Amino acid sequence: EALLAMLALWAPPLPAKPIKAKKVYDVEEIGAAIKEGALINYYQPKVSVASCAVIGVETLVRWHHPVDGLIFPDQFIGVAEANGLINDLTRMVLTQAFAQEKKWQQAGLELRVAVNVSMDNLASLDFQDLVVDLAAKAGISPHKVVLEVTESQLMGDMRVSLEILSRLRLKRFHLSIDDFGTGHSSLAQLRDIPFDELKIDQGFVHHAWKNETLRAIYDTSLALAKQLNMESVAEGVEDRDDWDLLRRTGCNLAQGNFISKPLLAEEIPAWIEVWKQ
Ligand code: C2E
Ligand code: CA
Ligand code: CA
Ligand code: CA
Repeated sequence: EALLAMLALWAPPLPAKPIKAKKVYDVEEIGAAIKEGALINYYQPKVSVASCAVIGVETLVRWHHPVDGLIFPDQFIGVAEANGLINDLTRMVLTQAFAQEKKWQQAGLELRVAVNVSMDNLASLDFQDLVVDLAAKAGISPHKVVLEVTESQLMGDMRVSLEILSRLRLKRFHLSIDDFGTGHSSLAQLRDIPFDELKIDQGFVHHAWKNETLRAIYDTSLALAKQLNMESVAEGVEDRDDWDLLRRTGCNLAQGNFISKPLLAEEIPAWIEVWKQ
């Protein structure tokens, strides 16, 4: 018995949970997935903080991998960007999103649909024509479409990208600056591009109610959005305390797991019914 007790004392600590290195997929496999329709759009609701009305959804792409299961964008978007696949990928995501938007409209659902646009998509003026064409073919008005561009990508030589974004804005597409607070070039870009929406990065939303530093950045971003007449969106709203802060501070829209995780298109109508109650 004593021996057993000693053994127990000497037992090596449990091995730490193995850290599974995230697999990054190769170009060929990603290219095939795009062609075969294995990339599926999920949609995360954006709701009004004041009225709780569902205003729209953000498109978040996932890969239904035949062997590995559900694969998240951090495992393939970067590779697609680095290997010239991002135009095909974005075209596919836009096509799916616009077709879905049309279906929701026909079912009487008034939703704006947001799509993430990579900076690499904004390298050629063709992109502007592509978006205009796809929306026209799907029968969607531009003001129902939000194009989200990540703030940290808004750097470097911006002439062509600024031109494309401005032209899309003139056509009445809505522009959103994503992950606000994580980039460096924000203020100059805000001057040059008329963004309609500012999304405060989730890193400054969750727990901002109890952390002074987060709160300062959250408040500043919100004030900037108000001053510049942009709609403010807080992302990464994970619990009741986060939500209460948005209410107290008058943030316009909220998105995050407290409201809903990203859903399959088919799940959206039923989710809205439950949310309304
Ligand atoms: P993002 O545009 O900032 O999207 C928000 C991310 O936060 C999503 O991750 C979403 O699932 C996650 N999220 C939502 N609610 C919560 C929450 O309450 N807490 C936390 N911790 N996270 C939450 P996801 O879907 O893995 O996407 C990651 C990024 O991949 C996106 O960040 C976006 O930059 C990029 N991405 C997604 N879909 C596309 C796409 O179709 N095209 C391009 N170019 N990029 C995409
Ligand atoms: Ca986004
Ligand atoms: Ca974001
Ligand atoms: Ca992000």
